[in-house]
Amino acid sequence: MLEASDFIRTRISDDLASGKTAQVVTRFPPEPNGYLHIGHAKSICLNFGVAREAEGVCNLRFDDTNPEKESQEYIDAITKDVQWLGFQWGGAVRYASSYFDQLYAFAEQLIEQGDAYVDSQTPEQIREGRGTLVQPGMDSPYRERPVAESLDLFRRMKAGEFADGALVLRARIDMRSGNMNLRDPILYRIRHQQHHQTGDTWCIYPMYDYTHPISDALEGITHSLCTLEFEAHRPLYDWLLNKLPQLPHPQQIEFARLNLNYTVTSKRKLKQLVDEQLVSGWDDPRLPTISGLRRRGCPPAALRNFCERVGISKSDGVVDMAMLEFCMRDELELTAPRAMAVLKPLPVTLTNLPEDHLQMLHASRHPNVDMGEREIPFTPTIFIDRSDFEEVPPKGFKRLIPGGEVRLRNAYIIRCDDVVKDADGLVTELRCSVDLATLGVNPTDRKVKGVVHWVSASHSLPAEVRVYDRLFMDAAPDRSEVDYRELMNPESLVVYADARVEPSLANAAPEQGHQFEREGYFCLDNQADGRLIFNRTVSLRDTWGK
Ligand code: ATP
Ligand code: MG
Ligand code: MG
Repeated sequence: MLEASDFIRTRISDDLASGKTAQVVTRFPPEPNGYLHIGHAKSICLNFGVAREAEGVCNLRFDDTNPEKESQEYIDAITKDVQWLGFQWGGAVRYASSYFDQLYAFAEQLIEQGDAYVDSQTPEQIREGRGTLVQPGMDSPYRERPVAESLDLFRRMKAGEFADGALVLRARIDMRSGNMNLRDPILYRIRHQQHHQTGDTWCIYPMYDYTHPISDALEGITHSLCTLEFEAHRPLYDWLLNKLPQLPHPQQIEFARLNLNYTVTSKRKLKQLVDEQLVSGWDDPRLPTISGLRRRGCPPAALRNFCERVGISKSDGVVDMAMLEFCMRDELELTAPRAMAVLKPLPVTLTNLPEDHLQMLHASRHPNVDMGEREIPFTPTIFIDRSDFEEVPPKGFKRLIPGGEVRLRNAYIIRCDDVVKDADGLVTELRCSVDLATLGVNPTDRKVKGVVHWVSASHSLPAEVRVYDRLFMDAAPDRSEVDYRELMNPESLVVYADARVEPSLANAAPEQGHQFEREGYFCLDNQADGRLIFNRTVSLRDTWGK
């Protein structure tokens, strides 16, 4: 059911109510020149969401008019990301390039109508002739070229008679328009370039602004939702469709882009980070790409929920990364089974247990007991985290200190009797005793406040744990005076190569979040290839700027 919860949904419900629209058809139109990022997720959730709510259809259409920047790798990644987010397009995947014949025929029609002409100026002259925001443009000397001549030249452009850049086809609108997009925009240019879908069939390619409205019309799109930067392109969108009255006329409606702080969401910059190997790839878990978020362990429901909370508005704003993290925690809290993992292991010998002691303790997988129990082996040598022991504790330290007691999570209370160090003074082992009367009960004679997580030394599994932080130190790396690449956080990835995890994690699967008790939410890296490599999705609490 479509509810009028934002201005776009309100308009669409009105169109349905008035009968202007019989069935809603939207589209998500990525250019396959990079991987999708979280901004695209907003557009996906809106386009597919509206269609689903209105019992309509959303098409997935690749806007593939710049063959030199596009590739099949990007097409595959994008289709995978859309499905992973939980959406399915109507019918087959579509390509603007599959409309090249029709687009070409409409261009001839525009020439014949006197609405387009072939311009022989150099790219430089065309740029200069366009004027500026404060200065009107100048008519091209070729603007009055006879229709027959333009038609002939356009056909010969298509036939491959001219070099790249020699000629262009331009719409004949108004060189003095206050809107730069209406100053005789280029509709076609010559590019002797192979296309990933059409091969060598074409050496002229239509421009985005020409292709988009016609592709929308050919697909029967009713509402063409796009970001605010296209607002000034709408008069051209409408001009073109008015000049091609045989086509239906979709409505373009603009909404605000999603901007997130502490990161960049521009395909160009993301590609630069990947190409310059400043990150490990498009799916680097520190990137705000959909594939990076997936690899990091962000559940698709968390991303959808985030997009819903951000909402649809008409003015640009910057969303706080903490909101995305909140949505991830909110989802993972409900779905992530608990486990114990020790990132920086410190051996602890439990001196009052026999050497062959092995006891299977039981703990619930989750506060929701329907998720069942797990077995945790308890043995005379365990690991706790180095940060949970302090020889000289700071004020308020509640964990283990020499002579002090702490509870082992899901197990007993232990007391630290002895601290063993190496020649450099580094603590190498703690010797502790177990109070065997404290399994699941607190002692009555004293209060033990601290709780630490632990794993059995002999039964735990070696693992690598990767802890991520924000990729940039600046809240607005794209808007800073220095190059955004100089603002990268040198500590955005901290690797714990010698971590140990409880045996229940042996069969962890990518995309299944786990809560490592006291540490955060983690998931198996989807490139781990059988090794135990865990990525931290998000910490347990909001620690931004703390
Ligand atoms: P970028 O500027 O990152 O290269 P783009 O707009 O060029 O992005 P497209 O592949 O053309 O990338 O985008 C497909 C759709 O996603 C478009 O309709 C576009 O408006 C929308 N989109 C892209 N970025 C955002 C964003 N940050 N917020 C909301 N929608 C976005
Ligand atoms: Mg685009
Ligand atoms: Mg772009």
